[in-house]
Amino acid sequence: MKYYSTNNKSAKVSLKDAVLKGLAPDNGLYMPENFTVLSESFYKNISSMSFAEIAYTVAKELFNSEDVELAVLKQIVEEAFNFDIPLVPIHDNISTLELFHGPTLAFKDVGARFMARLLKHFTKGNDKQFNILVATSGDTGSAVANGFLGVEGVHVYVLYPKGLVSEIQEKQFTTLGQNITALEIAGNFDDCQRLVKQAFLDKELNERLVLTSANSINLARCLPQSFYYFWAYAQTVDKERPFVISVPSGNFGNIFGALVAKRMGLPVAKFITATNVNDIVPKYLENGKFEPRNSVATIANAMDVGNPSNFVRMLDLYNQSHEQMTADIVGYSYTDNQIREIIQETYRKHNYLLDPHGAIGYEALKTYLKTNPTANGVFVETAHPAKFKDVMEEIIESPIEIPAKLQKFMAGKKQSIELSNEFGGFKEFLLRKSL
Ligand SMILES: *Cc1c(COP(=O)(O)O)cnc(C)c1O
Repeated sequence: MKYYSTNNKSAKVSLKDAVLKGLAPDNGLYMPENFTVLSESFYKNISSMSFAEIAYTVAKELFNSEDVELAVLKQIVEEAFNFDIPLVPIHDNISTLELFHGPTLAFKDVGARFMARLLKHFTKGNDKQFNILVATSGDTGSAVANGFLGVEGVHVYVLYPKGLVSEIQEKQFTTLGQNITALEIAGNFDDCQRLVKQAFLDKELNERLVLTSANSINLARCLPQSFYYFWAYAQTVDKERPFVISVPSGNFGNIFGALVAKRMGLPVAKFITATNVNDIVPKYLENGKFEPRNSVATIANAMDVGNPSNFVRMLDLYNQSHEQMTADIVGYSYTDNQIREIIQETYRKHNYLLDPHGAIGYEALKTYLKTNPTANGVFVETAHPAKFKDVMEEIIESPIEIPAKLQKFMAGKKQSIELSNEFGGFKEFLLRKSL
């Protein structure tokens, strides 16, 4: 298995190169050159397999065994996924796959924990320091920082938009110390993402420092996000009904994982992608025009993305064809007020507390199922509601309990370095670090 860039299908690289580089030199994103359809017996026996067993079966086909031996891959999977991912029924034919039981209570723990272990394997015996640059709209920073905390030979720089992440989110990556540095950028998430991308393309920086990315543009974070869709199917009782997946989306790395699962034979009848008012992709699905624009701040802030990076991977999967993509995927978007109402209503009627992101996935699924009532619908809950404590308490008008895992972070002291959103200052900062 080799990996090509979405901008140039001919120049293929090894898994190791794809993971260490993150972004291809031509500014494209890496893709596996093919997807193996898993055997019929795998799908027949899937309900008797554990999550780690399923993940390993899928990983073997996506990650080249010349770069990572199967025994190592198996160990990475077993160590990375040491938490539950339950499928919880909500009402009627709607269930949620709760992806928030990892150490930072967001789905990004899945990809980040896998990637940290794979990178550690690749950098073993290398005497140079690896510098991970990660832009975060809230949850990536904490998942990546915690995944890599204390990993020798790796330093993580988390870039986040000043004042635009919740206090709990911020505490999860600004209080760690050790090999984690938090950079507070005067700008929005798109600025942070742009700074990171520009750094990867900067010749001088790359001569002086080994830079790599841990955003969902990195295959090592993105591909593991396919594992849990197989797991959702495994836990589904009635497999005869059409299986429908709804994913609240921002940078579209999570739904990309779901699309990969279908390429590997998972019987998904329809994908639903749901956004906040940053509805670039739902608009594309509607009219065929992809028009990135500045992101708008919402209460589902981890999805405030105006130029979703994994969209090029989606286009690549569907041969740049709007028609092919819309045959598989439908899109919906919701305003903050709608999100508030969805949370209130679901809490009142079904006694389930959605977080602002999951609420979007739930409502889109509910709306879609009206057109396809015999289907079995699963939406993914991408974060624990307590991560958005202030917003949530205002919505449900009562205090919410903070899980012990989060309380631990809240007790720490914030440490960060403030920078402007201009590339020059960021570059200078990194160069000083390389001396
Ligand atoms: C990152 C994130 C999303 C968006 O996921 P993408 O893969 O970027 O589409 C949704 N919800 C939460 C809570 C997140 O942290």
